[in-house]
Amino acid sequence: MDDEKKLTALVIEDNEDNMVLITKLLHMNGFKIIWADTGMKGLRMAQEENPDFILLDIQLPDIEGTEVLKKIRALDTSAGRVCVIAMTSYAMAGDRERLMALGCNGYIEKPINPMTVISQIRKVIEEYS
Ligand code: MN
Repeated sequence: MDDEKKLTALVIEDNEDNMVLITKLLHMNGFKIIWADTGMKGLRMAQEENPDFILLDIQLPDIEGTEVLKKIRALDTSAGRVCVIAMTSYAMAGDRERLMALGCNGYIEKPINPMTVISQIRKVIEEYS
């Protein structure tokens, strides 16, 4: 696959272990990765780098991932319509519905399952495009 056909993922994640794991899995499967460790950096990169999709942690050190999602959806550029997949360890009932209502396109529960996460991501991207 040549470089131009690779999809770029913006991973907004503050946990280094999760970041290393997801980066490795995405690279192995032919994706390009850019990374932000805070919500505000992620929001800026979403606008400046035009990623093909975003993996968004919900528990971030500065602003909540839900706030990042709201701010992305409020953009009036194409960045506002980017595919966003939330990653969260919250196991509360209704959490998925709340995130989907805020405009995320998919949802991955932590801990990330290395055996299934890439197919989960591909499925969301395919359904969205
Ligand atoms: Mn986190």
